[in-house]
Amino acid sequence: MSTWKGERLETPVAVTRSSLPPLEEYVDMLKPLWESAWLTNMGTYHEEFKRQLKEYMGVPNLELFVNGHMALELALQALELKGEVITTPFTFASTTHAIVRNGLEPVFCDIHPSDYTLDADLLEERITENTCAIVPVHVYGNFCDVYKIEEIARRHGLKVIYDAAHAFGETMDGKGVAEFGDASMFSFHATKVFHSIEGGAVTFRNEKLAGRLYELKNFGITGYERVEYVGANGKMNEFQAAMGLCNLRHVDQEIEKRQRLALRYRERLSGVQGIRLCQENPKVESNYAYMPVVFDGYKKNRDQIFQDLAKYNIHARKYFYPCVNHYDCYKGRFDEKDTPVAAQISRQVLTLPLYADLELDVVDLICDLVLE
Ligand SMILES: *Cc1c(COP(=O)(O)O)cnc(C)c1O
Repeated sequence: MSTWKGERLETPVAVTRSSLPPLEEYVDMLKPLWESAWLTNMGTYHEEFKRQLKEYMGVPNLELFVNGHMALELALQALELKGEVITTPFTFASTTHAIVRNGLEPVFCDIHPSDYTLDADLLEERITENTCAIVPVHVYGNFCDVYKIEEIARRHGLKVIYDAAHAFGETMDGKGVAEFGDASMFSFHATKVFHSIEGGAVTFRNEKLAGRLYELKNFGITGYERVEYVGANGKMNEFQAAMGLCNLRHVDQEIEKRQRLALRYRERLSGVQGIRLCQENPKVESNYAYMPVVFDGYKKNRDQIFQDLAKYNIHARKYFYPCVNHYDCYKGRFDEKDTPVAAQISRQVLTLPLYADLELDVVDLICDLVLE
């Protein structure tokens, strides 16, 4: 590490780097595809990937999709929702876009200052007679206040659909993250902890949703000469499923590697005046998806740290800035001032590089640069 002090790194360090299985493993899986010439439309790998994921996640109901966004968009459509959906502005564009593209009205609820998930204490004041559902996000893999959210939802007869794009493989009180709510969406995008190049899944409580999700991802076709729904094309292909099957063999080791690095960051950065890390939940087994750090009253602000790191060829990201209710495409429709905690955190947070093959020395260098 000390050899790098004061020098710019030759190879850029990005906020994340896709995990890849050994090349031979993937190539071995391609051969049968050349024989069968069945490349997409729910082939052998698709079905095997689905089976293994259900087992890994401990759920009876799961459908695969071409990506996480289509998974969420079609899950909302399958539930036949109408009216307002309460959600968080502190997330990736996909969460809100999926609501809006379904003709639903997003209503933003502020977040907890300690873990940046939807603040369940503010939830009830957002509920109106038009509310139909809640879409909370396990942001950075931080578990939402699931018990409180679902208790409120039950009392008001609302559906709960989690955006669990960041939470693959996590458990709370020994229960898998996919077991909560009416449905959860997972993203298997190349930049996520677990991926199938692009890909996604919906897990759900009511088994009757399976058929509808299947039909909606296949244009709403319900028979050879019958199209009953205005569906989309959301099918996962065999090359994606093959990558997912390969990566699933290695995901536990990948998470262990991430844990070691995340703990080093925590060791070095916790307890420093003006630096805040996410509150850890002792009941949660984390996947160490991200390393967000909040600079609040620190000697340097978030943007200065971002630039300082960039000078060393280290590229942190301002996840999530701006908040969704501050996007250009929603101008005049929402006001960031309605969610002051989210607005403030989005200006103070920086997500530091974290991926399985990141070197511990680089973590130390990043900490040195942040602390100097
Ligand atoms: C990645 C992500 C998505 C969308 O997933 P894709 O697979 O990229 O379509 C949705 N929500 C959040 C919070 C994400 O990070």
